Amino acid sequence: MIDPIECPDCEGQGEYPQEMAVIDYTRGGYLEDRMAECPRCEGLGLVEKPEDEYDD
Ligand SMILES: [Zn+2]
Repeated sequence: MIDPIECPDCEGQGEYPQEMAVIDYTRGGYLEDRMAECPRCEGLGLVEKPEDEYDD
Protein backbone atom coordinates (compact mmCIF):
# COMPACT_ATOMS: atom_id res chain seq x y z
CA MET A 1 0.00 0.00 0.00
CA ILE A 2 1.29 3.40 -0.96
CA ASP A 3 1.64 5.70 1.99
CA PRO A 4 2.39 9.20 0.69
CA ILE A 5 4.20 11.70 2.83
CA GLU A 6 4.75 15.40 2.42
CA CYS A 7 7.47 16.06 -0.12
CA PRO A 8 10.60 17.20 1.75
CA ASP A 9 11.89 19.20 -1.22
CA CYS A 10 8.96 21.60 -1.54
CA GLU A 11 7.43 21.09 1.90
CA GLY A 12 4.23 19.77 0.38
CA GLN A 13 3.67 22.79 -1.83
CA GLY A 14 4.28 21.01 -5.14
CA GLU A 15 6.29 23.97 -6.34
CA TYR A 16 8.85 26.34 -4.99
CA PRO A 17 10.20 29.77 -5.85
CA GLN A 18 13.22 29.63 -8.09
CA GLU A 19 15.36 32.51 -9.23
CA MET A 20 15.29 32.63 -13.01
CA ALA A 21 17.07 34.90 -15.44
CA VAL A 22 14.68 36.88 -17.59
CA ILE A 23 15.91 38.42 -20.81
CA ASP A 24 14.63 41.96 -21.12
CA TYR A 25 15.87 43.91 -24.12
CA THR A 26 14.79 47.25 -22.71
CA ARG A 27 16.27 46.81 -19.25
CA GLY A 28 19.08 44.40 -20.07
CA GLY A 29 17.68 41.41 -18.24
CA TYR A 30 16.99 40.68 -14.60
CA LEU A 31 16.41 37.91 -12.10
CA GLU A 32 12.88 37.04 -11.14
CA ASP A 33 11.47 34.65 -8.57
CA ARG A 34 9.14 32.25 -10.29
CA MET A 35 7.28 29.29 -8.97
CA ALA A 36 8.80 26.18 -10.46
CA GLU A 37 7.23 22.74 -10.32
CA CYS A 38 9.00 20.47 -7.90
CA PRO A 39 10.68 17.66 -9.90
CA ARG A 40 10.73 15.28 -6.94
CA CYS A 41 6.96 15.05 -6.49
CA GLU A 42 6.06 16.37 -9.95
CA GLY A 43 3.94 19.13 -8.48
CA LEU A 44 1.88 16.86 -6.25
CA GLY A 45 3.44 17.89 -2.96
CA LEU A 46 3.46 14.25 -1.92
CA VAL A 47 5.99 11.48 -2.35
CA GLU A 48 5.84 7.79 -1.59
CA LYS A 49 7.13 6.88 1.79
CA PRO A 50 10.59 5.30 1.54
CA GLU A 51 10.45 1.51 1.77
CA ASP A 52 12.82 1.32 4.69
CA GLU A 53 10.42 3.39 6.78
CA TYR A 54 7.42 1.11 6.48
CA ASP A 55 5.85 0.29 9.79
CA ASP A 56 3.29 -2.42 9.45
ZN1 LIG B 1 7.98 18.34 -4.04
